[in-house]
Amino acid sequence: MTGGKGVPEQVSQHPRVFLTLTAPSFGAVHAHRAKAGKPQPCRPRRDDPVCPHGRPEGCRARHQPDDKQAGQPICVDCYDSRAAVLWNAHAPELWRRLSLAVPRLITAELGITHKALREQARLSYARVIEYQRRGLIHFHAVVRLDGPDGPDQPPPTWATAELLERTPFTTPPLRSRYQPRTRTGRARRSSCGGAANSTPSPSE
Ligand SMILES: [Zn+2]
Ligand SMILES: [Zn+2]
Repeated sequence: MTGGKGVPEQVSQHPRVFLTLTAPSFGAVHAHRAKAGKPQPCRPRRDDPVCPHGRPEGCRARHQPDDKQAGQPICVDCYDSRAAVLWNAHAPELWRRLSLAVPRLITAELGITHKALREQARLSYARVIEYQRRGLIHFHAVVRLDGPDGPDQPPPTWATAELLERTPFTTPPLRSRYQPRTRTGRARRSSCGGAANSTPSPSE
């Protein structure tokens, strides 16, 4: 994430974390898997078990990346389509709640009040929504800590990438089957002045 569009270059020095918010599993789906560029068996199962609907639970096919079957349920009746539809419908609300929860998570981590956080730092969010092969929404997001007036100001000394790494990005009220799995990626520090391979800012 670099400066640009009125955002100063030094913003690339501000601590940030990359998040991927992924839906839980709603059932097995066909998948293209590759190892060293070679397609691997989709879902090999020993002894060829069958599901309660009498269909194979596994699949030995080696799906190509463009195979239309990839992302489709292995058994349409075992797959919890209702939950998958609910996930997609509620995903934006999950994001909203997460963005409200982040300041709470950070103040809890630091042992400071909300007022103190507001006076010392500002949290910025950027996210992109994507559809996975299985048709489920997932999010890529960047959470960044700026100074209290935004990207023009340096963040306080306590605002570090390590702090963001330690923050458990979960939304406690939604600890249910729809709870997303979060993967954090350590903020890649792009070099000052906007290196050619710096990560582009995701936009809303
Ligand atoms: Zn398959
Ligand atoms: Zn089944």
